[in-house]
Amino acid sequence: MSLKVSKRRPLVAQSEIRNMSIECARVGGINLAQGVCDLPVPDVVIQGAEEAMERGSNIYTRFDGRPELRKAIAAKQQRTRGMDVNPEGQVVATAGATGAFYATCLALLDEGDEVIVFEPYYGYHTVTLASLGIKPVYVTLAPPSWDFTAQSLEDVVTSKTRAIILNTPSNPAGKVFTREELTIIADFSEAHDIFVFTDEIYEHFVYDGREHISPATLPGMAKRTITISGLSKVFSITGWRLGYALCDPEWALAIGHFHDLVYVCAPAPLQIGAARGLDELGPEYYQGVSDDHQMKRDLFCNALRDIGLTPHVPEGAYYTLADVTSLPGNTAKERALHLLETTGVACVPGSAFYTGPVGETLVRFCFAKELPVLEDAITRLRKL
Ligand code: PLP
Repeated sequence: MSLKVSKRRPLVAQSEIRNMSIECARVGGINLAQGVCDLPVPDVVIQGAEEAMERGSNIYTRFDGRPELRKAIAAKQQRTRGMDVNPEGQVVATAGATGAFYATCLALLDEGDEVIVFEPYYGYHTVTLASLGIKPVYVTLAPPSWDFTAQSLEDVVTSKTRAIILNTPSNPAGKVFTREELTIIADFSEAHDIFVFTDEIYEHFVYDGREHISPATLPGMAKRTITISGLSKVFSITGWRLGYALCDPEWALAIGHFHDLVYVCAPAPLQIGAARGLDELGPEYYQGVSDDHQMKRDLFCNALRDIGLTPHVPEGAYYTLADVTSLPGNTAKERALHLLETTGVACVPGSAFYTGPVGETLVRFCFAKELPVLEDAITRLRKL
């Protein structure tokens, strides 16, 4: 028999995040590996979806999503970011931010292209690129504030570079890009005439009074920026698969057509539930989400510091990278497994976010857990 898997098959393995979740379930541990937000889903979101199902909104939607969701997203983007997007033509509702990112890559990039990615990176970004024959080219951010320079971008750009990806606030570093840094990226992308793909899924998880800035709102950036975000994290509905891409109508149509090809549409009644949430939840809801996670960040990072796993305290998102060189083992994976075996707390080896050896010195914890679960994890970690 000469049947075989595709050439791209070896490029896509089970993610280290899922691996650790499986290991964690095996030992009945506390899973701080996967980025699942444990907060309750807002009532209005659930009710909106239930009513939509009962009313019969259970069929395919238009390729770019239900009108009420597109309108609600555009209004929210104007309200919170001062960004103008037309719900007719500039909003594509997608199967999560993941679906938006995949459709964007399919629509705008070709095999052989190069894309600049900041390291530490989110694995789905780099593996998606690699699976499409696109080469991720890395610019490593320098802790503690995860800095980069204009020169570091110039050093990696080539005639094949077609886009730069940023993730603000970032997973796993928790970096919130400042206006000055975004201006460097804007100038760079204009000078080299490349796209900016910006994953803003953690836009509502920003701490210490920092501001989340959408790169598309910088002068001259609207046309070349694809803004990607979603409802998974902010409404705690990671299993609903709802996200969106916002961009110029020319790109939106292409992204929408590829999204249609792969997913047809995002789940219809759930789109209506999310639209209700976006329309009806006020600023106090979003502030509450940020405050709750800032409190958990402080609690968890202080505990890590106490036990000698020095954390990089995040400015946003809900992960912390911690130094695990004090633990036995030669690799981050060995150290993460040691931690799981001795404390019952699962984390992700830093090697999942780095190409080079730095990742072997770090692990990532997710602190978006219900308070009693987080406290239990801290008690267990203190036994180290
Ligand atoms: N983008 C980043 C940076 C993430 O960390 C995650 C989830 O962990 C996602 C996207 C996934 O978003 P969604 O559930 O909307 O596909």
